[in-house]
Amino acid sequence: MSKKVKVVYNRDACIGAVTCVNLNPELWVMNKDAKADLIDSKREGDVWILETELTMYLQMACEQCPAQVIEIFDKETNEKLF
Ligand code: SF4
Repeated sequence: MSKKVKVVYNRDACIGAVTCVNLNPELWVMNKDAKADLIDSKREGDVWILETELTMYLQMACEQCPAQVIEIFDKETNEKLF
């Protein structure tokens, strides 16, 4: 069973490098403003939030984002995973 996680995405700081879209197109799509959208996420203050299951591709998108604007937390414990 895969781990439930909360993705926290600081969209304002996205530099449009497209790495996340290339690695994990199920969750990321480029917008006309040259920033990525996190599909089905909801805005909370300055960030966008999505609760989902952790996949290798989501982890890779987080770790390889050159702007480091994607964080992944354990949904149950709120521990930062990546
Ligand atoms: S990899 Fe990071 S900087 Fe590049 S589009 Fe995705 S969120 Fe934005």
